[in-house]
Amino acid sequence: MSCFKSKYADELIANAAYIGSPGKGILAADESTGTIGKRFASINVENVESNRRALRELLFTTPGALQYISGIILFEETLYQKTASGKPFVDVMKEAKVLPGIKVDKGTVELAGTNGETTTIGLDGLGDRCKKYYEAGARFAKWRAVLKIGANEPSELAIHENAYGLARYAVICQENGLVPIVEPEILVDGSHDIEKCAYVTERVLAACYKALNDHHVILEGTLLKPNMVTPGSDSKSRAEPKVIAEHTVRALQRTVPAAVPAVVFLSGGQSEEQATVNLNAINQLKGKKPWSLTFSYGRALQQSTLKAWGGKEENVEKAQKAFLARAKANSEATTGAYKGDAQLGEGASESLHVKDYKY
Ligand code: 13P
Repeated sequence: MSCFKSKYADELIANAAYIGSPGKGILAADESTGTIGKRFASINVENVESNRRALRELLFTTPGALQYISGIILFEETLYQKTASGKPFVDVMKEAKVLPGIKVDKGTVELAGTNGETTTIGLDGLGDRCKKYYEAGARFAKWRAVLKIGANEPSELAIHENAYGLARYAVICQENGLVPIVEPEILVDGSHDIEKCAYVTERVLAACYKALNDHHVILEGTLLKPNMVTPGSDSKSRAEPKVIAEHTVRALQRTVPAAVPAVVFLSGGQSEEQATVNLNAINQLKGKKPWSLTFSYGRALQQSTLKAWGGKEENVEKAQKAFLARAKANSEATTGAYKGDAQLGEGASESLHVKDYKY
């Protein structure tokens, strides 16, 4: 027997399929308090609860935007917050048919004896936290594992540890009614070419699916959140969207079972426009693609919104227009229908790469 019998199996499968519906994608708004602080520092906004709440309200109440969004990943604090007029964010989402998600990992720690490689922590007490989040309305979860490309990295140890951590997390989520997003992010940092990224991506994904299978995870009730296959951030070579699409889809074809309903890419430091154009190229590519291919973007859905807002109430409408434009463009990219005609807000073409990115 390869899967366990979760009492939530039907619900998990239905929710995973819904989140992966073409035309929609995920807004990753689950930056930890430290990470949102860095984003706020870039616009001179103080990192206090009221400002974090205000940004999230701006995003979640943007007129027309949630039709393009199937799920929003929240940090724990946000799951319990309300709009200024007192409506729980979870209710705002429910009314718009958006499923609330929750970041459940507790960040990364260094793997001793490696060249700065990491493993993700947060398994202790995870089942109890999942129960609590389900009761609060969450229906899916995220756990970010991080790998890096170097002369000798990722090591076998890092690949194995991160794959088994993701699998343990995934089955605990499924026991408690949450669809796990399996996120093995291979950082873009480095001078490697696209071939090297493809090779590492295939090895990492193959290890993840072996681990998920060993842990009896119901693949139909999961989502994969990988990096796209691109050259490293310090590489001399650049790759056109079509080349990125070919390498990305081939890596997925070789490693991701057809039972997985959807692949929801992270943006990983690409500019807003690049992340949209590359997703569009992936969906325009002909060939075997048994999963839907959508987005779960953090930086690439929020950068121009953040800049337009600048922490000022009088800028909310302008900032919401910027968010609507990105949400719509990415929705179009999930079916290969993006024409490159989104109104580019300030910062939309700017690289969002942060070395050794922490979430
Ligand atoms: P980026 O799209 O900014 O890479 O972040 C998505 C995410 O949720 C990383 O865990």
